[in-house]
Amino acid sequence: MPEPLLRVEALTAGYNRVPAVRDLSLELAPGEVVALLGPNGAGKTTSLLAMVGLVPLMSGSVNALGAAVDARRPHKLARRGVLLVPDDRGVFYGLSVRDHFRLASRRADAAREAAVLDRFPALRGLMGRKVGLCSGGEQQMLTIAKALLGRPKVLMIDEMSLGLAPKIVQEMLPSIRDLAKEEGIGVVLVEQHIELALSVADRGIILNHGRVVLEGAARDLLARRDQVEAAYFGAE
Ligand code: ATP
Repeated sequence: MPEPLLRVEALTAGYNRVPAVRDLSLELAPGEVVALLGPNGAGKTTSLLAMVGLVPLMSGSVNALGAAVDARRPHKLARRGVLLVPDDRGVFYGLSVRDHFRLASRRADAAREAAVLDRFPALRGLMGRKVGLCSGGEQQMLTIAKALLGRPKVLMIDEMSLGLAPKIVQEMLPSIRDLAKEEGIGVVLVEQHIELALSVADRGIILNHGRVVLEGAARDLLARRDQVEAAYFGAE
């Protein structure tokens, strides 16, 4: 077994001393995709924020790339290759796709840029376009492409499908699995599309009311849809 990229042990975190997520544990190996699923308010975003140190832990621990995550230094973690891709996409509507590449590619060489564009070839034709005029799917491609320029080791992707047509989501989620496998990136995928997310993930964790209510191999969870739905929609 290779050393995990991320090891989360009994993470409990929240706001104003009220936990929004309790006792979450997970390990992420290179190339592995873990889907973190759950209804609105289940604690998914808080989990991601706590894993990168943007929300302090109330108890438990997070170890990324062999070192404890330090709540005072989330930017350092990003520099070491643990990146959170937020659900607001972090793009500027008034800037072009090329501008975003320039801003994001401080550390990327031309070869890396070309490799990233090979993964999202549609972006090549959009270089001169203002991001505000790009479709939601194109903006999402740009968001992921920007993150890839820095050769991340861990990507935490918060609801990339938010506001996207199901057809686009069906195209984009498999590309996340491919890039994880081909580049050895560990991915934590927060999603509302349960089946699609499980179909590209290796493992799934279902949160409800801040607690893990079901977890397992993604293909087992897909085979137990009734249980997954009960966990997802159940009141407790
Ligand atoms: P969604 O899919 O709606 O984003 P989520 O599963 O990501 O939901 P969180 O955003 O982690 O859930 O929210 C978990 C709980 O923490 C909710 O009860 C929410 O109201 C609360 N919460 C989230 N952010 C804050 C904050 N900044 N201050 C106080 N409470 C918060």
